[in-house]
Amino acid sequence: MDQLLEKLVSATKTSHRKFDLHLLEEAYEFTKLAHTGQLRKSGEPYLIHPVETALLLVEWGMDQTTVVAGLLHDTAEDGGATYEDLEKLFGTDIAILVDGVTKISNVKLKGSQEDEFVENLRKMILVMAKDLRVVFVKLADRLHNMRTIEHLQPGKQIKFATETLQVYGPLADRLGMGEVYGELSDLAFKYSMPEEYAKLIEQTKDIYSETENRAKKLRDELIVAITPQIPNVDVKARRKHVYSLYRKLQRPEINFDLDKVHDLVAARIITDTIAQCYVALGIVHSLYKPVPYLGVSDYIANPKPNGYQSLHTKVFGPDGYILEIQIRTEEMHEQAEMGLAAHFNYAEAKSKGVSDEKLEKGAILAPQEKLNWVKQLLTWQQQISDNQEYFATLKFDALAHRILVFSPIGDVFDLPYGSTPIDFAYRVHTQLGNQASGAKINGKMVPLDYKLGNGDVVEIVVDRKKNKPNRDWLRFAATHVARSHIAKALKS
Ligand code: MN
Repeated sequence: MDQLLEKLVSATKTSHRKFDLHLLEEAYEFTKLAHTGQLRKSGEPYLIHPVETALLLVEWGMDQTTVVAGLLHDTAEDGGATYEDLEKLFGTDIAILVDGVTKISNVKLKGSQEDEFVENLRKMILVMAKDLRVVFVKLADRLHNMRTIEHLQPGKQIKFATETLQVYGPLADRLGMGEVYGELSDLAFKYSMPEEYAKLIEQTKDIYSETENRAKKLRDELIVAITPQIPNVDVKARRKHVYSLYRKLQRPEINFDLDKVHDLVAARIITDTIAQCYVALGIVHSLYKPVPYLGVSDYIANPKPNGYQSLHTKVFGPDGYILEIQIRTEEMHEQAEMGLAAHFNYAEAKSKGVSDEKLEKGAILAPQEKLNWVKQLLTWQQQISDNQEYFATLKFDALAHRILVFSPIGDVFDLPYGSTPIDFAYRVHTQLGNQASGAKINGKMVPLDYKLGNGDVVEIVVDRKKNKPNRDWLRFAATHVARSHIAKALKS
């Protein structure tokens, strides 16, 4: 057996899924034939790329159809295979997936003008929304390409990296695939903004290693303290991804002050059950005082929109320095690293008869909730024919960075940066927007053009006699949803 095939086969054996080795071998031979004589820019045989793509998909716990599609993903584009070939040999599902990946790959986002970019992004989303497995194959393909980006020419590196930063990184993030997002964006950051990257690495070298030492000390103390009550506990120290640090430093409240970043290296406590998370939090706070003004975030009770769940607390660590500690169950951990991919695993695990009790330990969100943003994009796509408007929607609502705010009863809403109470109101309900007359943030009255911040509790003050928005709201409303509702209400 070929070495590459052997590697793939042995990887599938460690997966909890069943693989038909005969099918795998056939797909491998087909791929090998299709790429005969082709080389990667590194000079290696091309075949390495589809095999590495398939290996990533196995690692992510994807099903056989997705893994085989990963193996075959470039055979149409670069290997001359037709849809009919693939369908005849490997069945309709696999052929459709390969076709989807090929279509996405043909969409050229790199260096295109805004208009073109929008139209192409729209096409891409349409393909992806039909079967999310296409996205996983594309992300695995992109991750391997980014891992080997050093072999490309500098001009290509920049285009490729920028596209990754603008489209594929945010996509992985929105799917809750934290690890993939982190790795993709770090690699892309390095090549698309080499100067900023080098500067940041240089600036943080010492502080990173210092913080790492502190976090290790903290970890050792935590293990000793927690193990008697939670024998299975796992405590790790983890470094923040460079790109996510870069983004954080740009936030106004941080303003490039590294002393204000407390999760440069965070300790992570992994337990079996949700109850144990809160027990661990109690032990942590008995050892180290929580920092009063930074406080505790309970993302278990209030998950982030992409499904992320954990307890976060910032404490004065062993030497008096502020450190962040994150506490979560094993399932939440997998969810945080793998997002929607992890969910696919659980859905399948459940159908295979894993006990409800075990599944409940990890409080899994309904898949529908996580698919909402894809659906939303689709709906907008259908409603909006004008490219400019669609671009605005996409650019500012969907792919821009987000803030999380809360309603007075604790419902969480995901809004783009720059949103105001008016955006919040229209997000909740059209009526609430139209009747808005004032807003309270964290209990205090603020003007309606107030820029919302992460974690704000937003309460809209309503005037029941009012049924029309104010024209000047259009000056500051940031979301497409709010703007179009305001414009419509003013017209009628
Ligand atoms: Mn590829």
